[in-house]
Amino acid sequence: MNKNEIKFGTKEWAPYNFNYCNGCSNDCVYCYAKDMAIRFKRKRYDDWCEMEMLDISKKAFTKKNGMIMIPSSHDITPENIELTLEVFDKLLNKGTKLLVVTKPNFNCIKKIIDRFMKFKNNITFRFTIGSVDTNILKLWEPNAPSFDERLNSLKFAFDNGFKTSVSCEPLLDNNFDKLYELIKEFVTEKIWVGKMNSPMKRVCCNTNSLFPTNKIKEIIEFQSDDEIIKLYNKYNDNKKIEWKESIKKVILNHNIKLV
Ligand code: SF4
Repeated sequence: MNKNEIKFGTKEWAPYNFNYCNGCSNDCVYCYAKDMAIRFKRKRYDDWCEMEMLDISKKAFTKKNGMIMIPSSHDITPENIELTLEVFDKLLNKGTKLLVVTKPNFNCIKKIIDRFMKFKNNITFRFTIGSVDTNILKLWEPNAPSFDERLNSLKFAFDNGFKTSVSCEPLLDNNFDKLYELIKEFVTEKIWVGKMNSPMKRVCCNTNSLFPTNKIKEIIEFQSDDEIIKLYNKYNDNKKIEWKESIKKVILNHNIKLV
């Protein structure tokens, strides 16, 4: 593989995506969607966390030849779970396959699983977990669920026979080994690992420069080329692990063979 063959963004995971809210209450400080919304003046740094439900009455719910990643620019939370169930119902009844990407709120996941059990073959869950330490999660993803809630959601989806995967993107510390050990037995598909993109620029934009700079510098150190290469060498033979574009680029830049 060379650099030109690497897919990036949501296209790494699915050819289509579907969203039905503007803003996201999790308010992750590294959020790409928030950065874009601020840049194009759809939201401000201090009102991104207010979720506005979009009018879905004019949206097309046609079946696609390929998976739909849902959502990609907000999350599934108690505020929008009823609209989420309505959207899922329309898409799944058309025969669509869904890649459900979320920092899982347990009650929301339970509602989805209870309601759409008969569609389990058309649903893959991908839960975002960047650290086992809830204090670290709360720093970077202030209103998102704790580690235990995410792990319990993963176990619940797994125990109910759904396809499960985990996104460790962005990794929020240098303790991937522990995270891997705690999640691996509940993952039926892949564990995706990736860096935080443009941390200094994006976090400063998203927080109006109110986020502690030393914490951003820590992340930059954790994801230095040397650290990424060490991680790659350790897990590269592991068939459960997939590397996101941000890591593939580091590997190729150092002329290391990317399998
Ligand atoms: S959950 Fe996703 S969309 Fe929501 S703030 Fe975090 S990164 Fe952005």
